[in-house]
Amino acid sequence: MKDINQLVETALKNLKDKNLLATPENYEREFYKLSRKHELLVEERVEFDDIKESLCKSERKKLNSKKESYKELSRILKQRVDEDEIKYFLSNLSYFMSPSLYKELKIEIDEICKELSLNPNDLFDSETSRNLRRYNDLRIKKDKLVFNEKSNDVKKLIIFLGKLLKKIIKENSLTMDRVLDLKDEIKTIELSNSSSKHMAILHEKLIKGIESFEKVLKKSNKKILTSKEDNNSLYMEIEKLKENLDKAEEEKSIDFLTGVLTRRAYSIEVERVENEYSIFDTKYAIVFYDIDHFKKVNDCYGHDCGDKVLATFASILNKLTRSEDVISRYGGEEFICIIHYKNIIEVKNYLKRVRNIVSNNKFVYKDIKLDIQFSAGVAFRNIYTSYEDTIKSADKLLYKAKYDGRNMIILDNGDIIK
Ligand code: GH3
Ligand code: MG
Ligand code: MG
Repeated sequence: MKDINQLVETALKNLKDKNLLATPENYEREFYKLSRKHELLVEERVEFDDIKESLCKSERKKLNSKKESYKELSRILKQRVDEDEIKYFLSNLSYFMSPSLYKELKIEIDEICKELSLNPNDLFDSETSRNLRRYNDLRIKKDKLVFNEKSNDVKKLIIFLGKLLKKIIKENSLTMDRVLDLKDEIKTIELSNSSSKHMAILHEKLIKGIESFEKVLKKSNKKILTSKEDNNSLYMEIEKLKENLDKAEEEKSIDFLTGVLTRRAYSIEVERVENEYSIFDTKYAIVFYDIDHFKKVNDCYGHDCGDKVLATFASILNKLTRSEDVISRYGGEEFICIIHYKNIIEVKNYLKRVRNIVSNNKFVYKDIKLDIQFSAGVAFRNIYTSYEDTIKSADKLLYKAKYDGRNMIILDNGDIIK
């Protein structure tokens, strides 16, 4: 085939032979097919092939090779997104891909996205999509890591503060040694790199706070020291007075007959216990004890014998109670105990032990051996809205134990220990 005229003629003839109408589309297809077959360079066909060449892989797949025509090409090209729009999207891609916590990765992700926005065609490159996916996975992994580190740091500081509060409440005061210990302790709390900015400020503030405690304590120590040097005898006098005051204070807080806390000291302990309850949610029960028919002991064997019974009863309670618990002589032959527990069964076991020891042993005074019985009411603090309601309930249950025949322990959950 030599020229375009011959090509046109043959194309029309072929259509006729195939019984096809010479519609623009049918003609165009036939025309290109022939030009390709005879390798005739026709401008339109070269242009058509150029556009076809520029299609990406997925677009080429969509092109039906049997129906190749400009109409078919435009159908595919119409689905293309505007390049400027793609560039605009890619220029914002780093915003969606950037890590929220692990900032170091942001620089690399920004770079990839910038590169892509300049060469949007790279987006269809498998290497690029692999890269994007890798960075996305890395971003999630790193963010998780930073989140874990930060929450661990918060935990460390909260645990420290919890311990500090507990100590202050328990000791009721801060000594210089204790402050220095605290300072060392908080300085050794290591924060992760990721928290260095945010949490470090809090860490620093805690250290400063402890240092100001230290200054106040140092100042007051200094004052005492100068007065000691200036007026030694006055200082000694003050020390002596202080000693006596402490002794008197101690005498007031310990019941001289039984060695357990007085009612006054008990009320101070209650404040501490209640503070711990509200901060740390510690569980405790109040046990109200009252010796049965105690008046008879006095009447039959004398007041001294009664005193001995009271002291023995208190020492039994003392032996069976742990150091964090509280025992107090609430009135004549009434005792009150605050028993901490994790599981109610611990309280029940404690009550059974008291019951068994008192029931299975004789109380001895000189050559007199006595059987002693008692009644008790028990209330669990977490059932009530206040300490006052709890003690009221324990008192009521003790009264009920007396009314129901004595020699029994009634708990507010309905349990009775006889
Ligand atoms: P109940 O079973 O109802 O508790 O009877 P009770 O006799 O134990 O109770 P009541 O309240 O009638 O009597 C308590 C007695 O305890 C009266 C009081 O003289 C005596 N008492 C109070 N304090 C002391 C004390 O320090 N030493 C002695 N020996 N007796 C005391
Ligand atoms: Mg009584
Ligand atoms: Mg009594």
